[in-house]
Amino acid sequence: MAAQNGTNKVKGVDLCDSARNIAAILLARHGSTVPVDVIGIIKNYAELEIVPIPFQFDGIVLDIGCGARPRIIINSRIPGARMRFTAAHELGHVIIPWHRGVFLDDESLDTSQRIANVDAYIEMERQANAFASELLMPKAWLAQLINEMEASDVHLSLIDQAQVSPQAAAINLIKALPPGHVYAVTDDSDMVLNAGRSDGTLAVAPEWQVQLPSNSYEYAERYRSFKRAGSTYHWWCLPASVGEEGSSASLVDWRTILDEIVGDLVSDQDAAKKFKLKVNGVVGFVNSQCRRNTVSSQGAIRAAVIQRFNDRAEYASFAKHSKFSDFVASRVHSLAVD
Ligand SMILES: [Zn+2]
Repeated sequence: MAAQNGTNKVKGVDLCDSARNIAAILLARHGSTVPVDVIGIIKNYAELEIVPIPFQFDGIVLDIGCGARPRIIINSRIPGARMRFTAAHELGHVIIPWHRGVFLDDESLDTSQRIANVDAYIEMERQANAFASELLMPKAWLAQLINEMEASDVHLSLIDQAQVSPQAAAINLIKALPPGHVYAVTDDSDMVLNAGRSDGTLAVAPEWQVQLPSNSYEYAERYRSFKRAGSTYHWWCLPASVGEEGSSASLVDWRTILDEIVGDLVSDQDAAKKFKLKVNGVVGFVNSQCRRNTVSSQGAIRAAVIQRFNDRAEYASFAKHSKFSDFVASRVHSLAVD
């Protein structure tokens, strides 16, 4: 399916946000609560057929904006939670007013039409996904869960109460969480299938399609994992702040500490010099990132510096050195007074 006319923003309005707002209005109109009766809601707006489709697609919507009652067709071969999300997604195409235009099956498009339509198509799909996420996992309900429990427990609530797939739940949850959250999905052999981080998180999310390192985010405040349908879901909550504010009296000069650490790790003089420059580069980068995000407390900058060094394999032994936290404290203090 592809659609004409699907821009990202119109006059500065994010159309994914608009799609979410439309879903919220629809929910209020039907007075539905979690688990949302998506099938019941659909029947007000479209014909629904749940039938086995022998291809790799989850659902389609036909006859939008042509005067006839739209038809939503869902593949009955997909798991129940995925079916609910697909149904909500297709309903999004029916309800979102600008998802009109001409909807064509991909097979019927020639190459130039496909290229012209691909951006519009991807954007419409994002909007329909945003609509489905809001319909099944309403923002206000989700915000309350996030307030009350840890990310991994919120994730389980989304799966069990909202009845969405672990995957759809994780993708929606990571967007709603405050900075400092990271998740990964792994298979039996610890291969990362999917991973992400919340907005404003400085740590890098685990790399996809490689083995999850067993020492990932050792500095995390909390780590929890659970298994669902053969996959393991990992959640880390990284510290937003490290150390006390203003405790600077006993700090040794950071250059002295850096010399000591690097002296323990690198014997070659030139290599040591280069390594120290790189360390300072990392600190400078994190500091400017923090300033750009108007993060100014020393505790928050210390946490960000610790995250950054722990992310990089080349600094693994540096970040594990017994004097590393002293270095971070002194270096960040010096940035504040410079
Ligand atoms: Zn779609």
